[in-house]
Amino acid sequence: MPELPELEVVASVLTRRVIGRRIERVSLAPKGASIVVRDLTGRGFAETLTGAVFGSVTRRGKFLLFAGQDVPWTMAVNPKLTGRFQLSAPGGKKAGPVWVTFHMREPSEELRFIDSKRMGQIYLTEDVSAVPTFDEMGPEALDVSLDEFRLRIRPFRGEIKGVLVNARFLAGVGNAYADEILWAARLHPYRKRSTLSTDEIEQLYHAMRTTLVESTEKVHQVMGDDIHLKPRNFFAVHMRGGEACPRCGTAISAVTANQRITNFCRGCQPGGLIRGMGGEAKGSRR
Ligand SMILES: [Zn+2]
Repeated sequence: MPELPELEVVASVLTRRVIGRRIERVSLAPKGASIVVRDLTGRGFAETLTGAVFGSVTRRGKFLLFAGQDVPWTMAVNPKLTGRFQLSAPGGKKAGPVWVTFHMREPSEELRFIDSKRMGQIYLTEDVSAVPTFDEMGPEALDVSLDEFRLRIRPFRGEIKGVLVNARFLAGVGNAYADEILWAARLHPYRKRSTLSTDEIEQLYHAMRTTLVESTEKVHQVMGDDIHLKPRNFFAVHMRGGEACPRCGTAISAVTANQRITNFCRGCQPGGLIRGMGGEAKGSRR
């Protein structure tokens, strides 16, 4: 799932590459695009967007927001697990199944929405609060002060990884970066928030900031303008189950629960119960 670092880079690349450009044509995959696209304007998705000019591309939580120039609508994209964009010359190799294509001219170029599992959603709306879960999001993870972080985390008493990925707490962190943040903070992912000391909460706050800021820079370097890529080769623990922890050398643990994998190091992230978030652990664990 693209998270804050990837989406931040995608928004900045698209800002440079598509702002001010006219959408000459919108094509929707004949079968399947209707699952991806949600027109909340009632005026038709392709009909509304054809002829419009991209005005801005920004990120909010795990959404990308496209606004048109001098038009009232916003296109809010929630890529979920598998959705992504690709910029390509017409006829260029597709990075996956394409559901929506925005055709631009001079130079001829396509902005494609690709999704191998059709989980992502593209909403066209004049009121983003009509987009499911949009209004429930807490502040941006990188916008809160330490004091605000302490205050906001207090009502969340469950396992700390579950708190970090909860968009109601803070927006932008998902499964992968939560693992990286907890490793950086040396905190076991299944420890209850209520067991964390004042110092540990502070450690977590700084680890979150450092991880997100540094990862955004790394994604930027690896991705370039290839926004369909998901560069994660710099991860310390996520998807590295069985490999040696880069800090202490212990084999990295992998616990699967609720179809989500959690990776952490029992050597330098001690404590916690051996179970998944809200359910019994399945799959391998060390
Ligand atoms: Zn370790």
